[in-house]
Amino acid sequence: MPTLAERDHAVLWHPYTQMQTAPLPVPIVRGEGSWLIAEDGTRYLDGISSWWVNLHGHAHPHIAERVSEQLRTLEHVLFAGFTHPAAVELAEQLLALLPQNQARVFYSDNGSTAVEVALKMVLQYFHNLGQPERRTFLCFRNSYHGDTFGAMAVSSRGAFTQPFWPLLFDVEFLDVPVPGHEQEVLSQLDILLTRPDVAGFIFEPLVLGTAGMVMYAPEVLDELVHRCHQRGVLCIADEVMTGFGRTGPLFASALLPREQPDIMCFSKGLTGGTLAMGLTTCAAPIYAAFLSDDKMKALFHGHSYTANPVACAAALASLELTSAEACTHQRQRIADAHAAFRQEIEGQAGIRQVRHQGTILAVEYDPGEGTSYFSRLRDAFYQLAIDNHVVLRPLGNVVYLLPPYCTTNEELELLYAVLRRMRALVLDFLPAPTLPEYLHD
Ligand SMILES: *Cc1c(COP(=O)(O)O)cnc(C)c1O
Repeated sequence: MPTLAERDHAVLWHPYTQMQTAPLPVPIVRGEGSWLIAEDGTRYLDGISSWWVNLHGHAHPHIAERVSEQLRTLEHVLFAGFTHPAAVELAEQLLALLPQNQARVFYSDNGSTAVEVALKMVLQYFHNLGQPERRTFLCFRNSYHGDTFGAMAVSSRGAFTQPFWPLLFDVEFLDVPVPGHEQEVLSQLDILLTRPDVAGFIFEPLVLGTAGMVMYAPEVLDELVHRCHQRGVLCIADEVMTGFGRTGPLFASALLPREQPDIMCFSKGLTGGTLAMGLTTCAAPIYAAFLSDDKMKALFHGHSYTANPVACAAALASLELTSAEACTHQRQRIADAHAAFRQEIEGQAGIRQVRHQGTILAVEYDPGEGTSYFSRLRDAFYQLAIDNHVVLRPLGNVVYLLPPYCTTNEELELLYAVLRRMRALVLDFLPAPTLPEYLHD
Protein backbone atom coordinates (compact mmCIF):
# COMPACT_ATOMS: atom_id res chain seq x y z
CA MET A 1 0.00 0.00 0.00
CA PRO A 2 1.46 3.39 -0.97
CA THR A 3 1.53 5.99 1.81
CA LEU A 4 -0.43 9.24 1.59
CA ALA A 5 2.79 11.11 0.75
CA GLU A 6 3.54 8.67 -2.09
CA ARG A 7 0.01 8.97 -3.47
CA ASP A 8 0.44 12.76 -3.29
CA HIS A 9 3.70 12.52 -5.18
CA ALA A 10 2.00 10.57 -7.98
CA VAL A 11 -0.71 13.15 -8.72
CA LEU A 12 0.04 16.54 -7.15
CA TRP A 13 2.01 19.65 -8.00
CA HIS A 14 2.91 21.78 -4.96
CA PRO A 15 3.43 25.56 -4.82
CA TYR A 16 6.97 26.97 -4.78
CA THR A 17 8.35 23.43 -4.97
CA GLN A 18 10.91 21.83 -7.27
CA MET A 19 9.02 18.56 -7.54
CA GLN A 20 12.05 16.59 -8.76
CA THR A 21 14.25 17.19 -5.74
CA ALA A 22 11.84 18.09 -2.94
CA PRO A 23 11.47 15.50 -0.18
CA LEU A 24 8.03 13.90 0.17
CA PRO A 25 5.54 16.27 1.87
CA VAL A 26 4.64 15.78 5.52
CA PRO A 27 1.09 14.36 5.70
CA ILE A 28 -0.92 16.38 8.26
CA VAL A 29 -4.21 14.90 9.40
CA ARG A 30 -5.24 17.16 12.27
CA GLY A 31 -4.66 20.61 13.75
CA GLU A 32 -5.00 21.68 17.36
CA GLY A 33 -4.03 25.12 18.71
CA SER A 34 -0.57 25.97 17.42
CA TRP A 35 0.13 22.33 16.53
CA LEU A 36 -0.11 20.31 13.34
CA ILE A 37 -0.41 16.57 13.82
CA ALA A 38 0.99 14.19 11.24
CA GLU A 39 -0.39 10.84 10.07
CA ASP A 40 2.12 8.98 12.25
CA GLY A 41 1.21 11.06 15.32
CA THR A 42 4.25 13.36 15.20
CA ARG A 43 3.39 16.89 16.32
CA TYR A 44 4.80 20.02 14.70
CA LEU A 45 4.61 23.51 16.21
CA ASP A 46 3.36 25.90 13.51
CA GLY A 47 5.82 28.78 13.96
CA ILE A 48 4.69 30.63 10.82
CA SER A 49 0.90 30.28 11.11
CA SER A 50 0.78 28.03 8.01
CA TRP A 51 2.10 30.69 5.61
CA TRP A 52 0.87 33.65 7.69
CA VAL A 53 -2.84 32.83 7.62
CA ASN A 54 -3.70 31.34 11.00
CA LEU A 55 -4.55 33.70 13.87
CA HIS A 56 -6.18 31.79 16.71
CA GLY A 57 -4.95 28.24 16.30
CA HIS A 58 -5.94 25.35 14.06
CA ALA A 59 -9.45 23.89 13.96
CA HIS A 60 -10.69 26.58 16.31
CA PRO A 61 -14.04 25.45 17.77
CA HIS A 62 -15.70 28.89 17.63
CA ILE A 63 -14.88 29.41 13.95
CA ALA A 64 -15.81 25.79 13.16
CA GLU A 65 -19.18 26.29 14.86
CA ARG A 66 -20.01 29.48 12.93
CA VAL A 67 -18.84 28.01 9.63
CA SER A 68 -20.94 24.87 9.96
CA GLU A 69 -23.97 26.94 11.01
CA GLN A 70 -23.56 29.08 7.89
CA LEU A 71 -23.08 25.99 5.70
CA ARG A 72 -26.43 24.67 6.83
CA THR A 73 -28.15 28.04 6.28
CA LEU A 74 -26.77 29.44 3.03
CA GLU A 75 -23.60 28.09 1.42
CA HIS A 76 -23.42 30.51 -1.49
CA VAL A 77 -25.35 32.99 -3.56
CA LEU A 78 -24.17 35.09 -6.50
CA PHE A 79 -23.17 38.59 -5.40
CA ALA A 80 -24.32 40.64 -8.40
CA GLY A 81 -27.91 41.69 -7.82
CA PHE A 82 -28.02 39.75 -4.52
CA THR A 83 -26.66 40.13 -1.01
CA HIS A 84 -26.71 38.23 2.30
CA PRO A 85 -26.37 39.00 6.03
CA ALA A 86 -22.79 37.76 6.55
CA ALA A 87 -21.36 39.96 3.76
CA VAL A 88 -23.12 43.06 5.08
CA GLU A 89 -22.22 42.44 8.73
CA LEU A 90 -18.58 41.79 7.93
CA ALA A 91 -18.30 44.98 5.86
CA GLU A 92 -20.00 47.03 8.60
CA GLN A 93 -17.76 45.64 11.30
CA LEU A 94 -14.55 46.04 9.31
CA LEU A 95 -15.25 49.61 8.27
CA ALA A 96 -15.79 50.47 11.95
CA LEU A 97 -12.28 49.17 12.74
CA LEU A 98 -10.33 50.39 9.68
CA PRO A 99 -8.78 53.86 9.28
CA GLN A 100 -11.68 56.28 9.33
CA ASN A 101 -11.55 57.26 5.65
CA GLN A 102 -12.25 53.72 4.42
CA ALA A 103 -15.82 53.69 3.10
CA ARG A 104 -16.44 50.71 0.80
CA VAL A 105 -15.64 46.99 0.75
CA PHE A 106 -15.09 44.92 -2.42
CA TYR A 107 -14.83 41.16 -1.92
CA SER A 108 -12.60 38.72 -3.82
CA ASP A 109 -10.85 35.39 -3.23
CA ASN A 110 -7.26 35.80 -2.00
CA GLY A 111 -4.45 38.28 -1.45
CA SER A 112 -3.38 38.45 -5.08
CA THR A 113 -6.91 39.22 -6.28
CA ALA A 114 -7.33 41.82 -3.53
CA VAL A 115 -4.24 43.52 -5.01
CA GLU A 116 -5.51 43.17 -8.61
CA VAL A 117 -8.75 44.86 -7.60
CA ALA A 118 -6.82 47.68 -5.89
CA LEU A 119 -4.68 48.27 -9.02
CA LYS A 120 -7.75 48.26 -11.25
CA MET A 121 -9.55 50.68 -8.93
CA VAL A 122 -6.65 53.12 -9.24
CA LEU A 123 -6.36 52.83 -13.02
CA GLN A 124 -10.07 53.09 -13.67
CA TYR A 125 -10.40 55.93 -11.16
CA PHE A 126 -8.12 58.06 -13.37
CA HIS A 127 -9.73 56.69 -16.52
CA ASN A 128 -13.18 57.68 -15.28
CA LEU A 129 -11.87 61.12 -14.33
CA GLY A 130 -10.56 61.59 -17.87
CA GLN A 131 -6.87 61.26 -16.95
CA PRO A 132 -5.97 57.90 -18.52
CA GLU A 133 -2.32 59.02 -18.93
CA ARG A 134 -1.95 58.52 -15.19
CA ARG A 135 -1.12 54.83 -15.12
CA THR A 136 2.30 54.30 -13.54
CA PHE A 137 2.64 52.57 -10.18
CA LEU A 138 5.38 53.10 -7.62
CA CYS A 139 6.44 50.23 -5.38
CA PHE A 140 9.27 49.07 -3.18
CA ARG A 141 12.13 47.27 -4.86
CA ASN A 142 11.88 44.10 -2.73
CA SER A 143 8.13 44.03 -2.39
CA TYR A 144 5.79 41.08 -2.82
CA HIS A 145 2.12 41.60 -3.67
CA GLY A 146 1.09 38.23 -5.06
CA ASP A 147 1.44 35.82 -7.96
CA THR A 148 -1.13 37.00 -10.53
CA PHE A 149 0.18 39.21 -13.36
CA GLY A 150 -0.74 42.63 -12.02
CA ALA A 151 0.48 41.69 -8.56
CA MET A 152 3.73 40.33 -10.02
CA ALA A 153 4.22 43.56 -11.99
CA VAL A 154 4.19 45.66 -8.80
CA SER A 155 6.47 43.16 -7.02
CA SER A 156 10.24 42.74 -6.99
CA ARG A 157 11.76 41.61 -10.29
CA GLY A 158 13.22 38.55 -8.54
CA ALA A 159 14.25 35.13 -9.78
CA PHE A 160 10.78 33.70 -9.15
CA THR A 161 9.12 35.98 -11.70
CA GLN A 162 11.92 36.07 -14.28
CA PRO A 163 10.15 33.90 -16.90
CA PHE A 164 7.34 36.48 -16.94
CA TRP A 165 9.33 39.73 -16.91
CA PRO A 166 8.70 40.57 -20.57
CA LEU A 167 4.96 40.52 -19.96
CA LEU A 168 4.88 42.55 -16.74
CA PHE A 169 3.89 46.22 -17.08
CA ASP A 170 6.53 48.81 -16.20
CA VAL A 171 6.58 50.25 -12.70
CA GLU A 172 8.98 52.54 -10.85
CA PHE A 173 10.84 51.09 -7.88
CA LEU A 174 11.81 52.84 -4.67
CA ASP A 175 14.30 51.47 -2.17
CA VAL A 176 12.86 50.37 1.15
CA PRO A 177 13.37 53.20 3.67
CA VAL A 178 15.06 51.04 6.29
CA PRO A 179 16.61 52.91 9.24
CA GLY A 180 19.40 55.19 8.03
CA HIS A 181 18.10 55.39 4.43
CA GLU A 182 14.95 57.44 4.93
CA GLN A 183 16.17 60.67 3.29
CA GLU A 184 17.55 58.80 0.29
CA VAL A 185 14.18 57.17 -0.41
CA LEU A 186 12.26 60.43 0.12
CA SER A 187 14.52 62.02 -2.51
CA GLN A 188 13.88 59.11 -4.91
CA LEU A 189 10.16 59.67 -4.42
CA ASP A 190 10.39 63.42 -4.99
CA ILE A 191 12.04 62.85 -8.37
CA LEU A 192 9.42 60.30 -9.43
CA LEU A 193 6.57 62.55 -8.32
CA THR A 194 7.63 65.22 -10.83
CA ARG A 195 6.34 62.88 -13.57
CA PRO A 196 2.75 63.52 -14.70
CA ASP A 197 1.90 59.82 -15.20
CA VAL A 198 2.17 58.50 -11.64
CA ALA A 199 -1.15 57.01 -10.53
CA GLY A 200 -0.54 54.95 -7.41
CA PHE A 201 1.94 53.86 -4.77
CA ILE A 202 1.52 50.32 -3.39
CA PHE A 203 3.36 49.17 -0.29
CA GLU A 204 3.49 46.57 2.45
CA PRO A 205 3.12 48.78 5.55
CA LEU A 206 6.02 48.52 8.06
CA VAL A 207 7.04 44.94 7.20
CA LEU A 208 7.98 43.53 3.78
CA GLY A 209 7.22 39.87 4.37
CA THR A 210 8.65 37.90 1.48
CA ALA A 211 11.66 40.24 1.26
CA GLY A 212 12.74 38.67 4.56
CA MET A 213 10.63 40.54 7.12
CA VAL A 214 12.40 43.80 6.22
CA MET A 215 11.09 46.54 8.52
CA TYR A 216 10.84 50.32 8.33
CA ALA A 217 9.31 53.02 10.50
CA PRO A 218 5.73 54.35 10.36
CA GLU A 219 7.05 57.95 10.35
CA VAL A 220 8.85 57.59 7.02
CA LEU A 221 5.91 55.75 5.46
CA ASP A 222 3.68 58.58 6.67
CA GLU A 223 5.94 61.09 4.91
CA LEU A 224 5.99 59.03 1.67
CA VAL A 225 2.18 58.81 1.69
CA HIS A 226 1.93 62.53 2.50
CA ARG A 227 4.07 63.51 -0.50
CA CYS A 228 2.06 61.17 -2.77
CA HIS A 229 -1.17 62.74 -1.58
CA GLN A 230 0.12 66.24 -2.33
CA ARG A 231 0.48 65.10 -5.95
CA GLY A 232 -2.88 63.32 -6.10
CA VAL A 233 -1.22 59.90 -6.19
CA LEU A 234 -3.40 57.17 -4.63
CA CYS A 235 -1.80 55.03 -1.92
CA ILE A 236 -2.54 51.32 -1.53
CA ALA A 237 -1.69 49.62 1.77
CA ASP A 238 -1.29 45.90 1.12
CA GLU A 239 -2.16 44.58 4.58
CA VAL A 240 -2.54 40.99 3.38
CA MET A 241 0.21 39.88 5.79
CA THR A 242 0.23 42.71 8.35
CA GLY A 243 -3.55 42.86 8.88
CA PHE A 244 -5.46 41.58 11.89
CA GLY A 245 -2.89 42.21 14.58
CA ARG A 246 0.39 40.77 13.30
CA THR A 247 2.32 44.00 13.84
CA GLY A 248 0.63 44.84 17.16
CA PRO A 249 -2.41 47.03 16.40
CA LEU A 250 -5.23 45.52 14.33
CA PHE A 251 -3.78 47.12 11.18
CA ALA A 252 -0.24 48.34 10.54
CA SER A 253 -1.66 51.43 8.83
CA ALA A 254 -3.12 52.49 12.18
CA LEU A 255 0.46 53.34 13.26
CA LEU A 256 0.77 56.14 10.67
CA PRO A 257 0.78 59.41 12.63
CA ARG A 258 -1.13 61.59 10.12
CA GLU A 259 -1.98 59.91 6.85
CA GLN A 260 -4.42 57.17 5.86
CA PRO A 261 -4.14 54.91 2.82
CA ASP A 262 -6.72 55.45 0.05
CA ILE A 263 -7.08 51.74 -0.63
CA MET A 264 -6.38 48.70 1.56
CA CYS A 265 -5.97 44.98 0.70
CA PHE A 266 -6.71 42.08 3.04
CA SER A 267 -6.66 38.29 2.97
CA LYS A 268 -4.65 35.65 4.92
CA GLY A 269 -5.72 36.38 8.54
CA LEU A 270 -9.08 37.72 7.36
CA THR A 271 -10.82 34.39 7.98
CA GLY A 272 -8.47 33.44 10.80
CA GLY A 273 -6.75 31.12 8.33
CA THR A 274 -9.86 29.03 7.72
CA LEU A 275 -11.08 29.82 4.21
CA ALA A 276 -9.78 31.66 1.17
CA MET A 277 -11.10 35.20 0.90
CA GLY A 278 -9.73 38.58 -0.05
CA LEU A 279 -11.09 42.06 0.18
CA THR A 280 -10.20 45.53 -0.99
CA THR A 281 -11.49 48.65 0.76
CA CYS A 282 -11.38 52.22 -0.48
CA ALA A 283 -12.07 55.79 0.54
CA ALA A 284 -15.28 57.56 -0.53
CA PRO A 285 -13.82 59.72 -3.36
CA ILE A 286 -12.52 56.63 -5.17
CA TYR A 287 -15.90 54.93 -4.99
CA ALA A 288 -17.57 58.16 -6.11
CA ALA A 289 -15.51 58.21 -9.33
CA PHE A 290 -17.28 55.00 -10.41
CA LEU A 291 -20.80 56.42 -9.93
CA SER A 292 -22.39 57.60 -13.14
CA ASP A 293 -25.39 57.23 -15.44
CA ASP A 294 -22.87 55.67 -17.77
CA LYS A 295 -22.76 51.90 -17.16
CA MET A 296 -19.24 51.71 -18.54
CA LYS A 297 -17.90 53.61 -15.53
CA ALA A 298 -18.72 50.65 -13.23
CA LEU A 299 -15.94 48.42 -11.91
CA PHE A 300 -16.18 45.36 -14.16
CA HIS A 301 -14.45 42.89 -11.92
CA GLY A 302 -15.87 39.92 -10.05
CA HIS A 303 -15.20 36.33 -9.09
CA SER A 304 -17.70 33.48 -8.99
CA TYR A 305 -17.24 33.10 -5.25
CA THR A 306 -17.36 36.83 -4.43
CA ALA A 307 -18.41 37.33 -0.79
CA ASN A 308 -18.90 33.61 -0.22
CA PRO A 309 -21.16 33.41 2.86
CA VAL A 310 -19.16 30.61 4.50
CA ALA A 311 -15.92 32.59 4.20
CA CYS A 312 -17.71 35.70 5.51
CA ALA A 313 -18.98 33.68 8.50
CA ALA A 314 -15.43 32.48 9.21
CA ALA A 315 -14.17 36.08 8.98
CA LEU A 316 -16.90 37.29 11.37
CA ALA A 317 -16.09 34.55 13.88
CA SER A 318 -12.37 35.25 13.64
CA LEU A 319 -12.90 39.00 13.96
CA GLU A 320 -14.89 38.41 17.13
CA LEU A 321 -11.88 36.59 18.60
CA THR A 322 -9.37 39.14 17.29
CA SER A 323 -11.30 42.11 18.70
CA ALA A 324 -11.58 40.58 22.18
CA GLU A 325 -9.33 41.94 24.90
CA ALA A 326 -7.89 38.47 25.46
CA CYS A 327 -6.38 38.57 21.96
CA THR A 328 -4.80 41.99 22.55
CA HIS A 329 -3.16 40.50 25.64
CA GLN A 330 -1.94 37.45 23.72
CA ARG A 331 -0.38 39.66 21.05
CA GLN A 332 1.26 41.84 23.70
CA ARG A 333 2.59 38.76 25.50
CA ILE A 334 4.15 37.45 22.27
CA ALA A 335 5.61 40.89 21.47
CA ASP A 336 7.14 41.10 24.96
CA ALA A 337 8.64 37.61 24.67
CA HIS A 338 10.09 38.48 21.24
CA ALA A 339 11.61 41.68 22.66
CA ALA A 340 13.30 39.75 25.49
CA PHE A 341 14.67 37.15 23.07
CA ARG A 342 15.93 39.89 20.79
CA GLN A 343 17.82 41.43 23.72
CA GLU A 344 19.37 38.06 24.42
CA ILE A 345 20.77 37.28 20.97
CA GLU A 346 21.36 40.69 19.38
CA GLY A 347 25.08 41.27 18.91
CA GLN A 348 26.09 37.63 19.36
CA ALA A 349 28.49 36.01 16.90
CA GLY A 350 26.65 34.56 13.92
CA ILE A 351 23.80 37.09 14.17
CA ARG A 352 23.79 40.00 11.72
CA GLN A 353 20.54 41.69 12.75
CA VAL A 354 17.38 40.99 14.72
CA ARG A 355 14.14 42.69 13.68
CA HIS A 356 10.91 42.78 15.62
CA GLN A 357 7.48 44.32 15.09
CA GLY A 358 4.55 43.12 17.18
CA THR A 359 4.18 39.34 16.90
CA ILE A 360 6.76 39.09 14.08
CA LEU A 361 10.40 38.35 14.89
CA ALA A 362 13.13 37.94 12.26
CA VAL A 363 16.69 36.81 12.85
CA GLU A 364 19.15 37.54 10.07
CA TYR A 365 22.07 35.16 10.54
CA ASP A 366 25.55 36.12 9.44
CA PRO A 367 26.87 33.35 7.23
CA GLY A 368 30.28 35.03 6.90
CA GLU A 369 31.95 36.01 3.65
CA GLY A 370 30.39 34.88 0.40
CA THR A 371 26.85 33.72 -0.06
CA SER A 372 27.47 30.62 -2.15
CA TYR A 373 26.00 28.31 0.44
CA PHE A 374 22.85 30.36 1.19
CA SER A 375 20.53 27.73 -0.17
CA ARG A 376 22.40 24.94 1.63
CA LEU A 377 22.12 26.95 4.85
CA ARG A 378 18.42 27.52 4.26
CA ASP A 379 17.81 23.79 3.80
CA ALA A 380 19.86 23.01 6.91
CA PHE A 381 17.79 25.55 8.92
CA TYR A 382 14.56 24.02 7.63
CA GLN A 383 15.67 20.50 8.52
CA LEU A 384 16.90 21.54 11.96
CA ALA A 385 13.46 23.04 12.71
CA ILE A 386 11.60 19.95 11.48
CA ASP A 387 13.91 17.67 13.49
CA ASN A 388 12.88 19.70 16.54
CA HIS A 389 9.14 19.46 15.74
CA VAL A 390 8.90 23.03 14.53
CA VAL A 391 7.62 24.33 11.17
CA LEU A 392 9.61 27.32 9.90
CA ARG A 393 10.32 28.48 6.35
CA PRO A 394 13.64 30.35 6.31
CA LEU A 395 14.08 33.01 3.64
CA GLY A 396 17.75 32.48 2.79
CA ASN A 397 19.70 33.46 5.90
CA VAL A 398 16.64 35.06 7.53
CA VAL A 399 14.56 32.93 9.88
CA TYR A 400 11.37 34.48 11.19
CA LEU A 401 8.65 33.62 13.67
CA LEU A 402 5.06 34.57 12.94
CA PRO A 403 3.13 32.37 15.37
CA PRO A 404 -0.63 32.02 15.92
CA TYR A 405 -1.71 34.28 18.80
CA CYS A 406 -2.62 31.28 20.97
CA THR A 407 1.03 30.15 21.07
CA THR A 408 1.94 29.77 24.76
CA ASN A 409 5.11 31.03 26.43
CA GLU A 410 6.36 27.46 26.65
CA GLU A 411 5.78 26.97 22.93
CA LEU A 412 7.53 30.28 22.19
CA GLU A 413 10.49 29.01 24.23
CA LEU A 414 10.68 25.97 21.94
CA LEU A 415 10.82 28.31 18.92
CA TYR A 416 13.58 30.40 20.51
CA ALA A 417 15.55 27.26 21.37
CA VAL A 418 15.51 26.32 17.68
CA LEU A 419 16.70 29.82 16.71
CA ARG A 420 19.58 29.46 19.21
CA ARG A 421 20.57 26.14 17.69
CA MET A 422 20.49 27.73 14.25
CA ARG A 423 23.13 30.17 15.47
CA ALA A 424 25.31 27.23 16.47
CA LEU A 425 24.72 25.78 13.01
CA VAL A 426 25.81 29.04 11.34
CA LEU A 427 29.00 29.10 13.39
CA ASP A 428 29.67 25.50 12.29
CA PHE A 429 29.12 26.53 8.68
CA LEU A 430 31.91 29.11 8.82
CA PRO A 431 34.95 27.94 6.82
CA ALA A 432 37.62 26.17 8.85
CA PRO A 433 40.55 28.44 9.70
CA THR A 434 43.43 28.16 7.25
CA LEU A 435 46.48 26.87 9.09
CA PRO A 436 49.84 28.60 8.67
CA GLU A 437 52.28 26.78 6.40
CA TYR A 438 54.55 25.58 9.28
CA LEU A 439 51.69 23.66 10.87
CA HIS A 440 51.23 21.45 7.84
CA ASP A 441 53.11 18.19 8.32
C1 LIG B 1 0.75 36.59 0.66
C2 LIG B 1 0.68 37.97 0.21
C3 LIG B 1 -0.04 38.32 -0.95
C4 LIG B 1 -0.70 37.30 -1.83
O1 LIG B 1 -1.74 36.66 -1.18
P1 LIG B 1 -2.26 35.25 -1.74
O2 LIG B 1 -3.48 34.96 -0.96
O3 LIG B 1 -1.15 34.27 -1.48
O4 LIG B 1 -2.53 35.42 -3.18
C5 LIG B 1 -0.11 39.66 -1.30
N1 LIG B 1 0.50 40.60 -0.55
C6 LIG B 1 1.19 40.31 0.56
C7 LIG B 1 1.81 41.41 1.35
C8 LIG B 1 1.32 38.99 0.97
O5 LIG B 1 2.03 38.69 2.06
